[in-house]
Amino acid sequence: MTTPFDPEAFRRALHRAADVVADYLETVGDRPVLPNVEPGDLLSQLPAEAPEDAESFDALIDDFQRLVVPGVTHWNHPGFLAYFSSNGSEPGILGELLAAGLSVNAMLWHTSPAATELEIRACDWLRRLLGLPDAFQGHVNDTASVSTFLALAAARDTATDRDIRHEGLSGGPHLVVYCSDQTHSSIDKAVVALGLGLHQLRKIETDDEFRMRPDRLLAALTDDRAAGRLPIAVVASVGTTSTTSVDPVAEIADLCDREKVWLHVDAAWAGSAAVCPEERSLFAGWERGDSIVVNPHKWMATPMDCSVLFVRDPDLLRAAFSLVPEYLETREDAHPAKIDLMDLGVQLGRRFRALKLWFVMRAFGAAGLREKIRRHLRWGRRLAQRVDDHPDFELAAPAPWSVVCLRALLPDEPPAREDEFNRRVLEAVNRRGDVFLSHTKLQQRYVIRVAVSNLRTEEDRVDLAWQQIREEAERLRTDSDWNRPNEGS
Ligand SMILES: *Cc1c(COP(=O)(O)O)cnc(C)c1O
Repeated sequence: MTTPFDPEAFRRALHRAADVVADYLETVGDRPVLPNVEPGDLLSQLPAEAPEDAESFDALIDDFQRLVVPGVTHWNHPGFLAYFSSNGSEPGILGELLAAGLSVNAMLWHTSPAATELEIRACDWLRRLLGLPDAFQGHVNDTASVSTFLALAAARDTATDRDIRHEGLSGGPHLVVYCSDQTHSSIDKAVVALGLGLHQLRKIETDDEFRMRPDRLLAALTDDRAAGRLPIAVVASVGTTSTTSVDPVAEIADLCDREKVWLHVDAAWAGSAAVCPEERSLFAGWERGDSIVVNPHKWMATPMDCSVLFVRDPDLLRAAFSLVPEYLETREDAHPAKIDLMDLGVQLGRRFRALKLWFVMRAFGAAGLREKIRRHLRWGRRLAQRVDDHPDFELAAPAPWSVVCLRALLPDEPPAREDEFNRRVLEAVNRRGDVFLSHTKLQQRYVIRVAVSNLRTEEDRVDLAWQQIREEAERLRTDSDWNRPNEGS
């Protein structure tokens, strides 16, 4: 028995889909980056119920083109310079397609030996590319949020002799996690989900370059111990989300060694830059982590989703998560080379994400991956220099990689008005549709953020972004509405 679909019709649809995808990628740069839609636009065009009668593959693809494509934000657009890009490269897209064809569930070695072993090898290739020691073993999760959650769960269980698996957290001392005030919100979420409670998350103060202050970290660790609380983990960031600042990981690692506290390194975005040996000084100390997260879906040409968690001791993840019911027992359980990836985390079923990562590393080659990142770093650093040199703008933070946080200056105006000015400039640039930039807040001040890490971006787009920022700032400075007194009141 097969499915009701005619194999020839399916083949034709696959060919058509191939053309749709290839055409899309060839022309994506001609569209506005952001769709011209209002909330509810697509919802109002979609029927309330699924169809009773079967529809053709062509009808599906037609509606994909008619309804869906005009309503997406184009992450593969060369002008996508917002957030951290997610890069769907050609080999990565091929890998996704072929993995969908297999539709395997790699929960156990037994349920897909090749998916399991390819994941182990692909993560090991990545580890070597990044210059990490062979003490680390990697596996693939959907996102950094999940990778970090798993690492902190292992840290929690490792830190105490208590049988948290059976007893839960009640009764013992409070377990405390440390990160900086710039750390990604996924740490907060992990602390919530692990039942530690946000009161047990210390946001350590950063210095004027947004790096965690080790002296404040030490003080917090000391305070907590004195009060009978138990420090379990420090999260250090290499490339924070707002400014891409780099915590002093080596100094933090010294403290973690001394205090016997787990060190988790969040390098979700910047980690990919470790493929370039000349950038490795920015990573000094990360190799001393107990766990490290790097998202190939952010800066290594791999489509959403693909986050690699490296740990020194996968048995600690197993201790936290392994649970094998009888119906999942397999006859290879005694084999030393066998790994069941379900043991390393919360999820049982898992997609075959390693295929696209393997394709990406092979199709680019290490040299291609390095070249791609070097170009981004060159353009980003050049933009930072231009901003710094311009009298009407300032760099709102150092730009160690290729993300530039900048602000238009209104020296004679109060800060709130300068913030509003920058917000309007950003909106005006984004409305033009050639580039999409995002913003952040630094020390309560509004900041425009340009992130150069998109596979399809060329240098001229970065130049265009800078040109349009200057043009829109100039336009607004002379705008009569903007200059009317009591504006906005
Ligand atoms: C993007 C990012 C995350 C979260 O990534 P997801 O994969 O979307 O969960 C965590 N940490 C840092 C530093 C990030 O840049």
